[in-house]
Amino acid sequence: MTTTEPEIVELPQLAVQWARIRGRLQAEVGEVEYRTWLRQMTLAGLDGDEITVTLPTRFLRDWVSTRYGDRLSALWQAENPAIRRVDIRVGGAASPVPALAESLTAPREQPSREEPPIRAEIALSSPLSGHAGAPPIGGPAWAEERVESRSDLAAPLDPRFTFEGFVVGKPNEFAYACARRVAERPSSQGFNPLFLYGGVGLGKTHLMHAIAWELTDRTTNPVSVAYMSAEKFMYRFIAAIRSQSTMEFKENLRSVDVLMIDDLQFLIGKDNTQEEFFHTFNYLVEQGKQIVVSADKSPSDLNGLEHRLRTRLGCGMVADLHSTTYELRLSILEAKAARAGVEVPVKVLEFLAHKITSNVRELEGALNRLVAHANLFGRPVTLETTHEVLHDILKAHDRRVTIEEIQKKVAEHYSIRLTDMSSARRARAVARPRQVAMFLAKQLTSRSLPEIGRKFGNRDHTTVMHAVSRVTELMERDGTFAEDVELLRRLLES
Ligand code: ADP
Ligand code: MG
Repeated sequence: MTTTEPEIVELPQLAVQWARIRGRLQAEVGEVEYRTWLRQMTLAGLDGDEITVTLPTRFLRDWVSTRYGDRLSALWQAENPAIRRVDIRVGGAASPVPALAESLTAPREQPSREEPPIRAEIALSSPLSGHAGAPPIGGPAWAEERVESRSDLAAPLDPRFTFEGFVVGKPNEFAYACARRVAERPSSQGFNPLFLYGGVGLGKTHLMHAIAWELTDRTTNPVSVAYMSAEKFMYRFIAAIRSQSTMEFKENLRSVDVLMIDDLQFLIGKDNTQEEFFHTFNYLVEQGKQIVVSADKSPSDLNGLEHRLRTRLGCGMVADLHSTTYELRLSILEAKAARAGVEVPVKVLEFLAHKITSNVRELEGALNRLVAHANLFGRPVTLETTHEVLHDILKAHDRRVTIEEIQKKVAEHYSIRLTDMSSARRARAVARPRQVAMFLAKQLTSRSLPEIGRKFGNRDHTTVMHAVSRVTELMERDGTFAEDVELLRRLLES
């Protein structure tokens, strides 16, 4: 972790700053724009107070310099006051600028033949990384991979995924505490490996990034962290095999202080990659390096993963992220609404916390949409606008309402007998509520028209269709009737 060559220590700092700048840019311009123009930027060198960033084509270079040049300079200066200029060039194999790692590390005895994809990432994030060779000269597949891998340097860590941005509650407090502990004191007894598991969207990736941020943000004794998804791990491994550079792949991986692999379940059925991971894992643990792994299940439930690997994974600290509770969802919403700077009534937050129970990602998505809508139209967020804006999301979460419940509620509301929902009586006092129930069944459930018809005394689907259009028409004409139906819908939805 320590080195005798002081200039090498700068390396992870620059890489971290660069990662942060890219993260910020991405957040500012949005995913699509970022991917289109900025993703292929490569940090190519540092010369005095000038940093060089390269892009693969002249067109991209021109575009990025004119549109984003100033912003890039500003971001660099904010990150690192020592940097005064940003030079944006066309780069790649012919780039006259020496590779960053090369310019900062003492040359090794042997210049490498080829640069495997993994090298770029590790080289930039590890103070221990070796020499950086010339870019590969391989065929088209290679070139593609290189661009891809370089651009991956881009978004290793999401700037929003920090400990400060993580809301702690009963379901995640243990996992949170473990993550914090590892971030403070990596490789401590009993916490290595740290295995985080839980369902989709419950915060596994968020906690892993938070650990990585914390460790790489340290000013003293910087730690080299390699974070990647299991999928990326496999992809890199395969690329290394193809380019006959598995030795370098291994060396690079083994030179890190903290290795984090996200979504390990992806390795199920990928035997060779599993094997490789197992060896890397053992090596690092023996060297006293920290491993953090996440998956959707506990180690013992990861069927299809080699037994010995599962055993080793369960040897350190295993922490699960439980499904969220209403209280946690509400706290998360409050925190995120406050951060977005948009006033959202408590009623709306409660409604969302109550409705969207699946996972935090969806909850966040719903809130983001509300906020975007409010900003765009300059309208305050209300329960009404919430219904309007989130119509589709809410509908997807309303599948649980059954036709029976609808019939019961509607019959109660209009004071008719439940049996009249399926009786043949045609008196308006009975027929109208029946039509309302059919209308609501269509709106609130995913049942088809024939299915709904069957539940209403084996009526034909055209009868249901007629009921739907009749109720819609009446709602448009008669405000009181519309309110009535709306009220019923709310009652059934809550
Ligand atoms: P996972 O990796 O478990 O599928 P993520 O870590 O990607 O889930 O989380 C999904 C989204 O929900 C992210 O935007 C994350 O920031 C957010 N999130 C999850 N849990 C929390 C929490 N406790 N506090 C704040 N945000 C959270
Ligand atoms: Mg994840």
